[in-house]
Amino acid sequence: MMLKNFKGFGSLAIHAGHIQDPMYAHLTPLYASSTYVYDEAEQGMRRFSGKEPGYIYSRWGNPTMSEAERKIAAMETYRIEKDGQPLEAMAILHASGMAAISSLFMSTLKSGDKILTHYSLYSGTEQYMKQLLEPLGLSAVIVDLRDLELAEKMLQEDPQIRLVYLETPANPTLQCVDLQALSTLAKQYGKITACDNTFATPYLQQPFKYGVDFVIHSTTKFLNGHGTAIGGVLVGTDMEFMQTTATRAHRLLGGNSNAFDAFLLVNGMKTLEVRMQRHCENAMQVANYLDSHGAISKVNYNGLSSHPDYAVSAKQMSHPGAMMSFELKDGFDAGVRFMNRLQLCTRTVSLGTCDTLLSHPASMSHSSVPREQRLEYGITDGLIRLSVGMENIEDILEDFQQALP
Ligand SMILES: *Cc1c(COP(=O)(O)O)cnc(C)c1O
Repeated sequence: MMLKNFKGFGSLAIHAGHIQDPMYAHLTPLYASSTYVYDEAEQGMRRFSGKEPGYIYSRWGNPTMSEAERKIAAMETYRIEKDGQPLEAMAILHASGMAAISSLFMSTLKSGDKILTHYSLYSGTEQYMKQLLEPLGLSAVIVDLRDLELAEKMLQEDPQIRLVYLETPANPTLQCVDLQALSTLAKQYGKITACDNTFATPYLQQPFKYGVDFVIHSTTKFLNGHGTAIGGVLVGTDMEFMQTTATRAHRLLGGNSNAFDAFLLVNGMKTLEVRMQRHCENAMQVANYLDSHGAISKVNYNGLSSHPDYAVSAKQMSHPGAMMSFELKDGFDAGVRFMNRLQLCTRTVSLGTCDTLLSHPASMSHSSVPREQRLEYGITDGLIRLSVGMENIEDILEDFQQALP
């Protein structure tokens, strides 16, 4: 099933992970059942001991969730080889991206360990590190990991660092870090690496190709693609670790997904390739349009040669993606005015849906962050964040044109 040698990523996204349903349903149904039954007590014993494969309890997994897991593992390892063999990975579906991150932290860290990470992480991840991990005796060291010499110095000097946690591209400036260089350095010093691949998706970037140990996603975004369900996934290539330690963390933390969200995710992912192609094609045109507009002082898009991480992005991504941010010359009021004038595009947070989404972080997601700190993060008063959708490009540009001063 999964071992099939697909000629293209699009076919893989459609077919990988599917198992013929015993009732011959075309699509894997929503297995809305909390538990699974045994023909005889001995069968229950065999399942619990792992001697017989089979489902036990839906917090641990069910057939709808498994299909999503197999599909994501197949996409993240597509055409990657290790020692001449196709790379193997295991994915564990979670209730949300944050739940997947929680399983990653709880399965890889112990008290006293440190995480080496960079600026501009997803705000929930940064808050998790500061507000939940610190009281447990786990701390995050946050530096600019685009500076590889500094990264090496940190790894060399601090033996307590256990995990190097990366997110690339990252909010709101689309900062990118070098996956190959950082995972090589981390290995050299005996550390493990994880990458939040939410913005890129496996269609544009496969962190395992560069030696990263774990990939996490908020499947809520481009993987689902339609804004219909919250979800997350933890993927790893150390099968032994995934089957034991990571599985245990997932089962005991209780951040399980459910049949309905998994069903929506599976069917959303089938069109990942065509969706991303359209998202990306539109994004490039939107970036060029904004870049040449007189009311805009700056466009942060890793696909523009003026972006500081243009080269790193081009090296590790097949396309820079569909996320960007831009700054209006006239600051906060101009940002609010522009947002209010939009007619086609949608005013909301989140990203990765068919429609173009815009948010004004200074007045929305980061309105409670003190201005000084917000500016330090690169979130200026007039900054607008944009997830470019799949509408016809003429309509997106027309909406921008009428909304911009
Ligand atoms: C949304 C998001 C998360 C958190 O995922 P949830 O599904 O909302 O829990 C983590 N990382 C990135 C980059 C995100 O965009």
